Amino acid sequence: MFMAERILPYWVKCCDCGKWRQYPLTEGDLTTDIVESWTCRSYRKLKKKSEDDKVENNLCISDEDERVQHCYSGYWYEGLGYTPLLKFSPTASLVASYFLDGVGLSPTDSNWEDNNVKEKLEQAEARPFFHPDSDDGIAFCFRPDVMEDEELIQFPEFGKIQNRYLALRNLILTLWALNYKQILTLDRCVNHLIIRGLARIAIIPQLERILKYLTVKGFINYGILQSTPYVWFPVCNPFMNSHVIVVGAGASGLGTAKQLHNFGMKVTVLEARGRIGGRVCDQTIGKVTVGKGAQIMNGCINNPMAVIVKQCGLVMKCIGDKCDLVEENGKVVDMEADERGDFHFNALLDAVAEWRKQTETDCSLGDKLLEIHKMFLDQTATDFTESSERLLNFHLGNLEYACATTLDHVSALSWDQNESFPQFHGNHTILTHGYETILQRLAEGLDIHLECEVTSIDYSAKTISVSTKDGRIFTGDKVVVTVPLALLKSEVISFNPPLPKKKTDAIKRLGAGLIEKVILSFSVCFWRKYSEKTGTFGHIPNMKENRGFCGIFYDLSPKNTSDKEKKNNYVLMTVLAGNAAVEAQKMQDKEIVERCLKLLKSMFPKERIPDPLESIVTRWGKEPFSKMAYSYVAKDGNGEDYTTLSEDVEKKVYFAGEATNRQFPQTVTGAYLSGVREAYKVHTDFEEENEDVES
Ligand SMILES: Cc1cc2nc3c(=O)[nH]c(=O)nc-3n(C[C@H](O)[C@H](O)[C@H](O)COP(=O)(O)OP(=O)(O)OC[C@H]3O[C@@H](n4cnc5c(N)ncnc54)[C@H](O)[C@@H]3O)c2cc1C
Ligand SMILES: [Zn+2]
Repeated sequence: MFMAERILPYWVKCCDCGKWRQYPLTEGDLTTDIVESWTCRSYRKLKKKSEDDKVENNLCISDEDERVQHCYSGYWYEGLGYTPLLKFSPTASLVASYFLDGVGLSPTDSNWEDNNVKEKLEQAEARPFFHPDSDDGIAFCFRPDVMEDEELIQFPEFGKIQNRYLALRNLILTLWALNYKQILTLDRCVNHLIIRGLARIAIIPQLERILKYLTVKGFINYGILQSTPYVWFPVCNPFMNSHVIVVGAGASGLGTAKQLHNFGMKVTVLEARGRIGGRVCDQTIGKVTVGKGAQIMNGCINNPMAVIVKQCGLVMKCIGDKCDLVEENGKVVDMEADERGDFHFNALLDAVAEWRKQTETDCSLGDKLLEIHKMFLDQTATDFTESSERLLNFHLGNLEYACATTLDHVSALSWDQNESFPQFHGNHTILTHGYETILQRLAEGLDIHLECEVTSIDYSAKTISVSTKDGRIFTGDKVVVTVPLALLKSEVISFNPPLPKKKTDAIKRLGAGLIEKVILSFSVCFWRKYSEKTGTFGHIPNMKENRGFCGIFYDLSPKNTSDKEKKNNYVLMTVLAGNAAVEAQKMQDKEIVERCLKLLKSMFPKERIPDPLESIVTRWGKEPFSKMAYSYVAKDGNGEDYTTLSEDVEKKVYFAGEATNRQFPQTVTGAYLSGVREAYKVHTDFEEENEDVES
């Protein structure tokens, strides 16, 4: 290998004629800059030969070296006795602790330059590679030195010399992380593939396969970017005649549809409502955009939705995780009491986690927490004051918000089952411009039929028929169902043949949770002193029964704008969770707003609080095409139910949606990722079917 690194020439492709040429050894190392602009004439210019222009222009005519064609065969590369060094790789500085200098296709060739890659990624909140010391459990972090199980299945030929795969995969992931506003094409990857010898050419088919795999899997080249089939299939699009119907145009449906469309398939989206977005729905109040459904992102690092927000050129606002907690008499909980409250609550959750190591019999999280809490009081004889009790209720209320139901419905064994998988870390943010714009951008270029309520799906024949309420019939090869769990529960869509019992049982077991939001705009910002630090403040309920009612307030007022702009644009958003969400179904909007206002007056006794200028009370529970907010693991259910929900039926009917995502349930990100996952499955199944036909 040492010899190869010294004596082998680089090969470079002419940007004019596309022929490969030897790069003069005398010129030293090849670089990406040179590759990007190299033509047959560059060589002449380098040599400073004073030939006339005519000769110079004709340089492209000369034949390509015969060896080039030979090295295109897969055998050539497999037979290569050494693994070439990847030079000047932008990955190098990110994985330096993994690869010592010069290990095979290692990106840490000793002459790598640190071109601020780390800093650039820091800004982008991307952490493509796992750091052994710090990144335990961060979602979408790759081990730079080991192939993942699925990679080994897809690329078994690299199993023995994994570096040959890893160097290429790591290079691709880094290039994507550095620029996700453009499709990462094979050409762009090749420009960064600086290795000596004909291996630079021979390796390209492998690079292409890995690039396609990572694209289809949705690790790169996802989001709002449009790609034409030509990018992936320059000769002939194998999916030209593949037709997929997607039911529902929420985050998951649009995610699936966009991916499949980019892979070159014909995709038809059928959406019951007169709008896209599903549980993402924004409204403007004053001049402020508020999400009546989703508006918060829990953890930005490696979060594909954060990437998409940036692709759209939008910004997010961080929300601190520690906010002021205000009692119903206007007192703010002091720091020490606040910390004690946190500690006690977390200790209860830890005790639940300990308890479940010894049992397989489920009970409700509410009962279990109460039991442990009582045990704690008995055993420690602590004087648990009324204010501590109120603080505990605040935390329990928050947990009911996270679960979207009262704790007596939630599984004590599995309520946080997803925590055993890597999760998104980093800042929690609020999408100042809402989520809807993002979904609108995802929807661009897709064939979406609005007001098209699907009532039945017949997959008994090879071609699937999807019927709508108004009597239309759509046919396709595969269908991806993305309607909310609550609608699967109420069987608004009939399936022929009926869905397998395993799936219908999981649908029954999994919980369809509910929260509602109240959004108020004011002419004054009477809460400013509490929201300034974190953009939020909490409400400590005076009794257990009130704990789900407006547990947390988000300040959505515009920041960094003129006072004139701010005037009449002070907006508060709050949440009705647990019992309060159930009660709200029976209350009028006016009653809810009045109760909320009364509460605010008690929390800010010294302020003169005017009537709100505008108010919104959401009605997700009553919306016929949602009937819920997000899923939870109900008592006697478990994380496996999410997996069962995600299983396809006969490779014809596929399922996406937040309630099919075991690792990231409940969220827009999770919904989107479930769509990406199903697009991969559909793609793979079509490919297999095509192979069967050919053989
Ligand atoms: C109040 C509230 C607050 C939330 N807050 C957050 C948050 O801050 N952050 C976060 O990440 N998530 C939040 N969520 C959850 C998030 O909104 C959802 O997880 C996500 O939007 C679900 O996307 P989906 O594609 O799975 O389903 P949906 O968005 O519900 O999409 C399903 C689509 O199917 C359509 N449909 C239904 N029936 C039919 C039919 N028969 N035929 C055709 N189409 C049909 C629906 O109209 C809908 O458009 C919140 C949800 C709510 C309600
Ligand atoms: Zn040329």
